[in-house]
Amino acid sequence: MLNFKEIAQITRGTLVQWKDHYPLQHLVTDSRKVVNANSSLFFAIKGEFHDGHQYLPELYAQGVRQFIVEDADHIMDLSAYPEANILLVSNSIDALQCVAGHHRRQFTLPVIGITGSNGKTIVKEWLAQLLSVTERVVKSPRSYNSQIGVPLSVWQINESHTIGVFEAGISQPDEMQKLATVVQPSIGIFTNLGSAHDEGFESQEQKLEEKLKLFEEVKCLVYCKDQVEVHQAVQEHKLPHFNWSKSHQQADVQIEILPARQQKTPIQFQYLRKKYGLTLPFTDEASLENALHCLTVLLYLGVEPDQLVVRFGRLVPVAMRLERKEAINGCYVIDDTYNNDVAGLRIALDVLAHQSRHGRKTLILSDLLEAGVEEEALYRQVAQEVSSRGVDRVIGIGDIISRHQELFPAGSEFYLGTDSFLGQLRPETFRQETILVKGARVFEFEKIVAALQQQVHGTVLEVNLDALVHNLNYYRSKVPASTKIMVMVKAFAYGAGSYEIANLLQFHRVDYLAVAYADEGIALREHGITLPIMVMNPSPDSFLKMEQFNLEPEIYSPDLLHRFLDYFPENSAKTPLIHLKLDTGMHRLGFDVAELEEALEVLAQVPHVRVQSVFSHLAGADEALYNDFSRSQMQQFTQMAARVEEVLGYKVIKHILNSAGIVRFGQEAAFDMVRLGIGLYGVESSGTEQSGLLTVGRLKTTVSQVKQIKAGDTVGYSRKGIAETAKQTATIAIGYADGYDRRFSNGIGEVLINGHRAPIIGNVCMDMCMVDVTGLDVRAGDEVVVFGEGLPLTELATRIGTIPYELLTNVSTRVKRVFYNE
Ligand SMILES: *Cc1c(COP(=O)(O)O)cnc(C)c1O
Repeated sequence: MLNFKEIAQITRGTLVQWKDHYPLQHLVTDSRKVVNANSSLFFAIKGEFHDGHQYLPELYAQGVRQFIVEDADHIMDLSAYPEANILLVSNSIDALQCVAGHHRRQFTLPVIGITGSNGKTIVKEWLAQLLSVTERVVKSPRSYNSQIGVPLSVWQINESHTIGVFEAGISQPDEMQKLATVVQPSIGIFTNLGSAHDEGFESQEQKLEEKLKLFEEVKCLVYCKDQVEVHQAVQEHKLPHFNWSKSHQQADVQIEILPARQQKTPIQFQYLRKKYGLTLPFTDEASLENALHCLTVLLYLGVEPDQLVVRFGRLVPVAMRLERKEAINGCYVIDDTYNNDVAGLRIALDVLAHQSRHGRKTLILSDLLEAGVEEEALYRQVAQEVSSRGVDRVIGIGDIISRHQELFPAGSEFYLGTDSFLGQLRPETFRQETILVKGARVFEFEKIVAALQQQVHGTVLEVNLDALVHNLNYYRSKVPASTKIMVMVKAFAYGAGSYEIANLLQFHRVDYLAVAYADEGIALREHGITLPIMVMNPSPDSFLKMEQFNLEPEIYSPDLLHRFLDYFPENSAKTPLIHLKLDTGMHRLGFDVAELEEALEVLAQVPHVRVQSVFSHLAGADEALYNDFSRSQMQQFTQMAARVEEVLGYKVIKHILNSAGIVRFGQEAAFDMVRLGIGLYGVESSGTEQSGLLTVGRLKTTVSQVKQIKAGDTVGYSRKGIAETAKQTATIAIGYADGYDRRFSNGIGEVLINGHRAPIIGNVCMDMCMVDVTGLDVRAGDEVVVFGEGLPLTELATRIGTIPYELLTNVSTRVKRVFYNE
């Protein structure tokens, strides 16, 4: 193992303070993820939105003793870290890469480096599955492919591994060079060249050139020869290669795809003049391409073609989503049932640890499939990871984990297999707790998830939490770095589900939340949300409750101010915080100029009440047409806010911009804080920068029945759906009671079934509606997308003359919300 002084040499940093040799096993870049403080080395990274240096004191208090910093200002006072080793470098990420690169050089194993626009993670996971039959594989956890993720992945390599598989992703020029020095691949895979991350590059060629930098030193690059641009570039750079093709006779591996049957695709491939057959357990293009990359790599590695049949037959789809959902008896399940190695477990445990919903946390864990670690040491480590994350109860399933049960806390339960657990399952023993279900594929833990999940009808709103964080960061990038962010989570977080969203926002360190009513705020507090919360429509009878739950009211009129003060006379114990709403032209709620003077006169008399912020709301931020009006509102706001500070004699937080306002005026009028709403959920309401956002919500349901109807028949109530010709219809399980607007009736609305648009036929019913699927291959049970990728909310809203806000918030609470990370 490296020691701190060696790291100082490798990174050419300045040893600011050296106290002692400490064990060094874990590289940590996220202050929230320290598990073994005494053997961790923390890299303080200055990011666009966070600064790791801020957490140095907290980490020191937790027992971390080894730090790499890039900003000397934060270590001026060394007496705060009497026992720490501290290294100052010019760039902490460079230092991290340098350390990982050095670690990589200590090993001679073959390393496969994967890049390309799509499919990296799947190809990596599949290769790991396919190779693990004979190799001890080390791989990137999930999609750890960034400037930070790659070095952390490579750091996992140890003596026992026989092959490494790592993915590398870039979004800007110059990034790949750095990742290449970390991964040092001996074999490369270029998956494909798509349009992802185009914005960071001048041209498609530049992006390709940049990606190829990963492969400058490889012994062999695997790619598909049918991708013309990639093939040309490989030729130009004279990269040693081994390729496959569906159309070229001269490829190293020639592929012929045969017609699919029963969800499987038979293929034939020719290699070294001999022909072989194989069946791939998928039919979609993307999966086939990914599988063919894997096939080619295995052939290059010398795996006997005859062996491939068995290995590919066992290939399973990679469900990379880590889903969270409601379950029996008020429980909440985190479903991560696709693989189970230590790195993946660690990520899932972090997610569990950051759930504030319930105090009690249970882990259902299968045997681990981890290569190259001695069994007892492995489970000892697992047990330690588990207890350091505050897990209250462990249920171990599998004969290996059962053999090591003495390593786990008393009260843990063990079962030899999934079925024996299910046979003895007593649902009443799960109550008001968060349950992480983490198991390798072979254990079929999806059965456990099904048993624990609430039985609800098949209409689901899926919420992509990664997309949500992307959108949050997009809006952050539109305002100066010092600007605070308040996120509006009113109306059940615009229909997305408030606890989960609030919890994620708390994790990502937004500054404030806002809700419409006190009850919404109280519910957040009861689920462990500690961020400051503003309540926009406080009713006087909720003032005391609000104080009890630390909620801060918006005060919008002299009358409301007086009522508030009645509850909090001068001698009250706490300093109540309030927010003043100013009316600068919206004419909804707020003080006008005269009322503000009246309020300030009162406030000047009650110094025990503190005005935390003053704010106003733009009436027309979503339309350029109203820019002049918006600016006049901002001007008036500036004057009124200045008056507040003048009379009160202290600074208050000032804010006026909503999502559309951030896009239009983020640089000129962010003031101290902005209020982000709809944009977080993926709708850019100014209509100018939609492409910067990702779709967050996907409302989906299923086909209940398919019918053939004759010309002249009618469909649904009032016989409104008239079939002029013979038609095929599908009845789908969503109606106006689920929030599917009745205005979508009679062809106004469309849904997506198997990638095709199908119009509504007849009137929307309460729990169902019918769609026209004439000419489409549709069966009962097929998935139906009501809105989401491919069927944008803005389009649907326009069709019925409303706005995306209404469609989102209308999704009824009986529709189950499922949250996931990719
Ligand atoms: C809802 C709301 C917002 C957020 O508006 P979006 O258009 O969703 O960004 C901001 N401020 C106030 C006062 C609000 O009520």
